[in-house]
Amino acid sequence: MKKSSILRPVTAASAIAAGIFAASCGGVSVPTFGTTCGLDFKSPNYAADTDQSTGKANTLRWWDEFPVSVWFGSSATYDPSGANINSTDVITAGIVRWVTATGGRLQLSEASSEDSADITIDVVILSSKPSTLATTIATVVTSTGRVTKGRITLYVWNGMSQQEFAEGFKATAGHEMGHALYLGGHSNQSADLMYFSKPSNVDKNVSTRDFNTLETAYCGLYITRSPASREEGPTHDETICRLPDGGTESPSDSGKVIVSG
Ligand SMILES: [Zn+2]
Repeated sequence: MKKSSILRPVTAASAIAAGIFAASCGGVSVPTFGTTCGLDFKSPNYAADTDQSTGKANTLRWWDEFPVSVWFGSSATYDPSGANINSTDVITAGIVRWVTATGGRLQLSEASSEDSADITIDVVILSSKPSTLATTIATVVTSTGRVTKGRITLYVWNGMSQQEFAEGFKATAGHEMGHALYLGGHSNQSADLMYFSKPSNVDKNVSTRDFNTLETAYCGLYITRSPASREEGPTHDETICRLPDGGTESPSDSGKVIVSG
């Protein structure tokens, strides 16, 4: 698998310089994220909204160990007319936006193995366009919302346009990573990356409301907690997104059989 230069492991020295280990050394009390600092920690946000696709209240999720490691499993190549676009490159460009939005405080790294990964991302090739663009399943500590594992499945399909693969797919990857990092539920405003539906061919970046909700889930802290401060308890798996295809927003350049594993 091609290594990404963006998803690099953080070194202890750089992490300490950035202050992200501060709360895990020295017995500093660490807040329970998403509650201690209040749901209006950074506004405007959609932390307290109702997900219109399910009718359920949004929930904030969070990790307590950074960097969060990502494993790129199955992939696909888009190659009509020699375009030769690799899904991993597109996904990386989409998910790293969460890192960029936080100025690098939220750290991602590439996992060394599937078993050790916090989040796995698989690309599944379908014979035709599906009604669901992607799904994310998270394993969550029931009492606190801490995420212990994320599994993202992204769909590509024969007949996909280059705009869908290179642009829309990037936003879909970013959307699902948002679920894996911090959000059970969706935004109700279409300008947000975490809106509950999206056109398959349109790219979208992290909005101010997306960023504010992420910040609120972590109280602005992306820190590794000491094992002693980590609560344990029953976990459950929840499907936190089945992203419906919202159609296309402009005529696309649909091709023929164009993706391969
Ligand atoms: Zn979603």
